[in-house]
Amino acid sequence: MEFVIIIAAVVLVAAFVAYVRRGQEQVSCPQCSSPQVRQVDQQLKELKQDSGTMGYSVKLDVKLIMETSFRCQSCNHTWSVTAPES
Ligand SMILES: [Zn+2]
Repeated sequence: MEFVIIIAAVVLVAAFVAYVRRGQEQVSCPQCSSPQVRQVDQQLKELKQDSGTMGYSVKLDVKLIMETSFRCQSCNHTWSVTAPES
């Protein structure tokens, strides 16, 4: 019984480490590929998606997306990345 708990603990730690690593994923500049980038802004945006006309009604899906802005400290290039909020 004890080794089951140990295995469960190891799996949990591995999952946590993978989650943290994913969150700290390094972003590099698309212009000069420098890793010296700074996150300058992060905002939640509403994205309305027209999923087409089905039958008589037009269905609208509203999606929340996270827009993150970055600035390169080497060449001052700024860009933003959007990711669906989950
Ligand atoms: Zn750059």
